[in-house]
Amino acid sequence: MLAFSIRGFAGSRTLNRPFNRTIASACHKAFETIPSSPIRVLRSVESVRRWRKPHYLDHRIVGLVPTMGALHEGHISLIRSAARESHHVVVSIYVNPAQFGIKEDLASYPVTWESDCKILAQLDRELADDGGNLGRISAVFAPTTPDMYPSGFPGQEVDSKGSFVVLTPISELLEGGTRPTFFRGVATVCMKLFNIVQPEKVYFGQKDVQQTVVIRKMVRDFMLPTEVVVGPTIRESDGLALSSRNVYLGERRRKVATVLNHALRAAESQYLNGSLDRGAILKAASSVATDLLNKQSALSPEKRVRYEIDYISLADPLSMEELSEVNPTEGGILSGAVKMLPVESPQPGEDLGHSGGPAVRLIDNIVLKPLAKV
Ligand code: AMP
Repeated sequence: MLAFSIRGFAGSRTLNRPFNRTIASACHKAFETIPSSPIRVLRSVESVRRWRKPHYLDHRIVGLVPTMGALHEGHISLIRSAARESHHVVVSIYVNPAQFGIKEDLASYPVTWESDCKILAQLDRELADDGGNLGRISAVFAPTTPDMYPSGFPGQEVDSKGSFVVLTPISELLEGGTRPTFFRGVATVCMKLFNIVQPEKVYFGQKDVQQTVVIRKMVRDFMLPTEVVVGPTIRESDGLALSSRNVYLGERRRKVATVLNHALRAAESQYLNGSLDRGAILKAASSVATDLLNKQSALSPEKRVRYEIDYISLADPLSMEELSEVNPTEGGILSGAVKMLPVESPQPGEDLGHSGGPAVRLIDNIVLKPLAKV
């Protein structure tokens, strides 16, 4: 029976070649794809649902990599992980206004659709050539704000009314202390994306450690049927964590932007050398950050870089609550945020960075792994 239907299908393909070509070209026209690739571009919730259904019935694993575009090696590494473990990788590209505060960089956030498409098409070819992958990039989901907020966008204000996913107290700590609407926006958009794409697995970067804790908590507390996979932080050779926002830095600030990573690494050394005490661990980090700031302050305004340390934290890996001492069987998370201020006295022809080099907030973290098992 099976052999017969396969033969019959092959036969009809041979006999009806012109007819099938017509269907193929009609289908080709019906689906938007990324140029020079088979990657589908899905722009509406409905189109994702239509694309998703047969893969659900076929028990194919769908992996989702949520991004805001301006793709770099950090995103690419998550997509590679997803392709190793999923039959179909969906990359979402959506700059979600709800996670930007009213005074933040939503208007200037880099939007690089064309180069993102080229990166994805090239990466997809590499994934196809690499026999170790279960799947490739099947689709990009690039919705609009009216699609994502069908009742209307609720606004970016702290007291905006609307349908939000809020996880407390985690969303109020650290990043949430400085950016009170950030995790509300992230959790809300991720809940929407998970409901639209219905992925078996979702991929997030360690670079945004508190985000990974928020997403894991959301998945657990709302019983979402998806597995959260966290990929390592990808860095430049000098240690700076890759970020779409690094384009704002310009040459002068870029050289100093490693300060946070250096500070966190100094704190990590304290821990690895046997210190468990919060004071001792964090002092190592703040010495590095303040010593460099003092050196910069001694330079002339045409040369110096100014920054403010927002926080340097030593926190519990599951709750992100501050620790007074690291439990060596549980480890901890060292994390920090630094605000690089716009350069003073820009020099003629100086590369100030994207959008004229506004203030840039950089974040980074290091996981202090457990030293011993009980
Ligand atoms: P974004 O486009 O900045 O929202 O980031 C999308 C995803 O990429 C998030 O899960 C981030 O944590 C992750 N990501 C961003 N930068 C890096 C990096 N340098 N290394 C690893 N993952 C990253």
